Amino acid sequence: MVTAIVLAAGSGSRMKSSVKKQYMLLNGKPLVYYSLEAFNDCENIDDIIVVTSEEDLEYFKTEIIDKYNISKVSNIVAGGKERYNSVYNGLMCIGDSEYVVIHDGARPFITVENIDCIVNRVRECKACVAGMPVKDTIKIVDEKNNIAQTPNRKTVWMAQTPQAFAKDIIMIAYNEMMKAEDDTITDDAMVVEKYYGIDVNMVECSYNNIKVTTPEDIVIAETFLSRKNSLK
Ligand code: C5P
Repeated sequence: MVTAIVLAAGSGSRMKSSVKKQYMLLNGKPLVYYSLEAFNDCENIDDIIVVTSEEDLEYFKTEIIDKYNISKVSNIVAGGKERYNSVYNGLMCIGDSEYVVIHDGARPFITVENIDCIVNRVRECKACVAGMPVKDTIKIVDEKNNIAQTPNRKTVWMAQTPQAFAKDIIMIAYNEMMKAEDDTITDDAMVVEKYYGIDVNMVECSYNNIKVTTPEDIVIAETFLSRKNSLK
């Protein structure tokens, strides 16, 4: 069995909008609907755990899950202060699944094919993440913003989600990270890299798989969506 955890408990403060980012409408449907639909339609996914903020639990159930008939949702749970707290709360609800696929609900352009690719790879290597090679040269700066290092661009990728792991591995890694009270965590691969120590494989995904974060991302997302609709 494969369980997906879809995260939608962020405050979306960088969006500077009165409507929470996950509920902003894209072509008439809430942003978070699009990734939920892809996971629901994917035959490799058996159930979906949604993580949202405590005050939105009821709203999420009626206005997203029931309204759009996202039938594979098995649990809707409250998230935490940081993304890793939300993931941990989702992990605590997993049943017998062998694999866990974690996805940011703020990435609406994930496709069923992308998810299939990640699930197939995690069955082979136990830990993998979606990503793409960077297009820009990346600089590491010091505290004065002076450039300290320029990594070879050929070796630098941006990590996206989905990120998928054998359940036992991600459970052990997250438990260790929580015990260590490590507050530097920004993605799940990092937890496994630091607290379990197996190779995490990067799976080439798509430049379309953006995380909608700031107002200009909405314009990009609308453009992607209208192009997708015109190709139908
Ligand atoms: O904040 P960031 O852009 O990294 O958020 C990525 C995803 O994690 C979003 O889908 C957001 O809703 C989710 N998140 C969460 N709980 C938090 C912070 C972020 O579920 N405390």
